[in-house]
Amino acid sequence: MNSIITRFAPSPTGNLHLGGIRTALLNYIIVQQAKKELPNSKFYLRIEDTDKERSKEEYTKDILAGLDWLNINYDSDPQIQTSNIKRHQQIAKKLLENKKAFKCICSNEILDKKRELNKKNKINNKRLCETCEKDDKVQSTQNNYTLRIKVPTEGVNKFNDTIQGEISVNNKEIDNFIILRKDGTPTYMLSVVVDDFDMGVNLIIRGDDHLNNIFRQNLIYKAMEWEIPKYAHIPLIHGNDGKKLSKRHGAISINDFRNNGYLKESIINNLILLGWSPNKIEKDEFIKIDEIIKSFDINKLSKSSSIFSYEKLNFFNNHYIKSKDNSKYLMKYCENNKNLNIFIKNDKDKFIKIFEVYKKNLNFYKELENIAEIYFFDNFEINFNNESNNYDDELIGEFSYFIDKIKNWHIDNLKKEIDNFILVKKIKFSFLGIPLRNILINSSKGPGIDEILYILGKKTSIERIKNYISKKQL
Ligand code: GLU
Repeated sequence: MNSIITRFAPSPTGNLHLGGIRTALLNYIIVQQAKKELPNSKFYLRIEDTDKERSKEEYTKDILAGLDWLNINYDSDPQIQTSNIKRHQQIAKKLLENKKAFKCICSNEILDKKRELNKKNKINNKRLCETCEKDDKVQSTQNNYTLRIKVPTEGVNKFNDTIQGEISVNNKEIDNFIILRKDGTPTYMLSVVVDDFDMGVNLIIRGDDHLNNIFRQNLIYKAMEWEIPKYAHIPLIHGNDGKKLSKRHGAISINDFRNNGYLKESIINNLILLGWSPNKIEKDEFIKIDEIIKSFDINKLSKSSSIFSYEKLNFFNNHYIKSKDNSKYLMKYCENNKNLNIFIKNDKDKFIKIFEVYKKNLNFYKELENIAEIYFFDNFEINFNNESNNYDDELIGEFSYFIDKIKNWHIDNLKKEIDNFILVKKIKFSFLGIPLRNILINSSKGPGIDEILYILGKKTSIERIKNYISKKQL
């Protein structure tokens, strides 16, 4: 092999989701690795839009945008499968001419009846049409027929998959599937093989829901005397209930993750560790794409399905959010988030301070929408509760007076000053901390008082305390 040619071939019948991304990512990584020694290696994108009813332009856009955002770059422009229909039809004709395919005139009603009968009699017969192939009259029909592939009745079909190992199936288990419909349109089974052959694809990495298609697709390769590619069928991703990952488990569409403020580094980090580890001992490793390309080994990818965990993703995302060189992503994210954009326009410094204080516990950027709101209220009102009756208002008044005198409003200094105040007053921190947190941000939980004061600034902090005192006196 003087190059490795792979492809990602999504159908635009839904948004790009985590499973698709994982497939694309693995294809991309393998080709980046191959390019080091075989520079002509390629990773292609093919949009399989042959299902006219379910394929939508908006999904194609979503797929392109998702790959672009994650920097999963493919070679050349994406190929659109429907633009090759003529070529698929041409190959179907060739298969017919070479007696590798046959005409079938069975109506849907007849086929449905056979299915029902087989079910009733518990007959496991994969060949629904058994008569047309041998019927000369049918074979000379000129209209209204489908083309079916001929499948040997004897023998065993063996195959070695890079991930799944050796798999085999008896030929009699394979159905004589349709390659060309009555209306002349090619089926997925034919189009995929023709396109892969034409693109020179010699390694197919895809989800193991396509595992059984190997045998069908190889029949076409063999009938055309084309070289069969290598296959690597990757296990599907499951949710923590063991079921195939779907919307039920939470967001799975890549653009939803992006809109919530997940970073590409965490998505890639999380996905690559599903069923593979660069180092057997460490489970939650931080690894970026360059390092992955250096150390990933597809032969070590587990063949059992992997569990996707949102907690793990949050763990990685929090790590990358906190990384110093990633703060540029926050501003980029905010450009496309209307609510956060308003805060930034209002007071960018304050917004950055909020981020700096809260980032240690932030799972994703969108969480800042709720967090920031309280710091930006112009007409902030404290929610009085039973506890507020017990606050020591004299102490709070003194504290307000005290902070008014602080010149250096930096976080380290604020902490020092507050510690001093508490020492001089000989009080427990909570005696001051609990009321102040409530007075300043209407919350019993949250960051330190020094941090809240730092975000709000001297003027607003004093205003909120004064506002509390005057309301209390009413
Ligand atoms: N278009 C197929 C899908 O989205 C993939 C076909 C393939 O990889 O062979 O499931």
